Amino acid sequence: MGADMNVAGRPTTPAPEFANALRRVTDGATGLIANTATGLIADAYALIRCADDDLPALLAAAGALRDSHKGRVVTYSRKAFLPITNLCRDRCSYCTFRKDPGDPGAWTMRRDEIRDWLTRARALGCKEALMCLGDKPEAAFPEYRQTLRALGHASTIGYVREACEIAIEVGLLPHTNAGVLAADEMTALRPVNVSLGLMLENVTPRLRARGMVHQNAPDKEPARRLEMIAEAGRLRIPFTTGILLGIGETPEERVDSLFAIADLHAAHGHVQEVIIQNFRAKPEIPLADAPEPTASEMARAVAVARLLLGGEMNIQAPPNLSPNDHRLLLRAGINDWGGISPLTLDYVNPEAPWPAIVALAATCAEEGFTLRERLAIYPEYVDGTFLDPALAAPVDALASTITGEDIHAPAPS
Ligand code: SF4
Repeated sequence: MGADMNVAGRPTTPAPEFANALRRVTDGATGLIANTATGLIADAYALIRCADDDLPALLAAAGALRDSHKGRVVTYSRKAFLPITNLCRDRCSYCTFRKDPGDPGAWTMRRDEIRDWLTRARALGCKEALMCLGDKPEAAFPEYRQTLRALGHASTIGYVREACEIAIEVGLLPHTNAGVLAADEMTALRPVNVSLGLMLENVTPRLRARGMVHQNAPDKEPARRLEMIAEAGRLRIPFTTGILLGIGETPEERVDSLFAIADLHAAHGHVQEVIIQNFRAKPEIPLADAPEPTASEMARAVAVARLLLGGEMNIQAPPNLSPNDHRLLLRAGINDWGGISPLTLDYVNPEAPWPAIVALAATCAEEGFTLRERLAIYPEYVDGTFLDPALAAPVDALASTITGEDIHAPAPS
């Protein structure tokens, strides 16, 4: 390997601890590193804690691993975001999405709104219907139970299932993120969802302690989330998960969380993508003045995720949450930007607009990457094991509309 350059273009000599850790991890990183008993955990800690001078070497190793498995192609999913209900029984202290009944902005989408949005999304070329909602509102709010009854449903999941059926009828593929779900709820959603999602966020129970972000969020108990992700694996459901940076966790706890995801994927093979997401401060939340993760913290986390989860994993960072750092994230080893909507806001981070797809394509091209559209289910999961047979025809129909053509910025006139 040639001399690495630091950000000023000077050759650097990596600190031995970092260099040895990087060598050991990259030696094992042709595939998933799932077993914490390998002793690589201390090395992974050294990588995520690396000095700024060592960062280029870390990114180069992660980028090379991505290139060797994924090539220089980066993907996105054209989606519509439907906040089926923003009522939620939890209170995460960084969240502006959740509402109580009667709060300004409290909203459960009506059937006609759902159909109208989906129809407009389809007309704009969307292929994914992201159903994103609060966790177990019917367990907390009698008024909402009445709303559900008026809609003809006894549970939120019953109503979400109906929304997914409408999406399929209109010509979109549903992906639902409805918080912690039981096995019977996932079983009910499987025939109408190409994938389900739940961010692990972080594996440390420390964030549930008094004064921490998840003190009032029972559904953020890491053990419950790990169990749901494992159950989705047993049910053979393609799954999206990830970690959230900047909510009070340490860099080592980010590594622990990536190892936990690696272990789940090693056991079940169903984790189709891992999101590395950064917390964004907002004036109306208790964490308004909390520092956001820096660009180099994001890059470190993406690179370590790539090295631990292997070259085959799809590693994603949301482009609207790091609008000035797209090049850095590409260098750090992502191969996917996640969902981008031409129609709807990111209701979880409404202050953060989606990038224009042609502008993102231009940035990718300048970095030597081709931007391509993908479906909400990755091609490697379109098989008889993971994809419910009921969805084979809708997936085929939409896959045939993705030409595989690259997305280009318009030529200058
Ligand atoms: S982050 Fe999710 S679980 Fe937490 S309060 Fe917001 S909607 Fe509820």
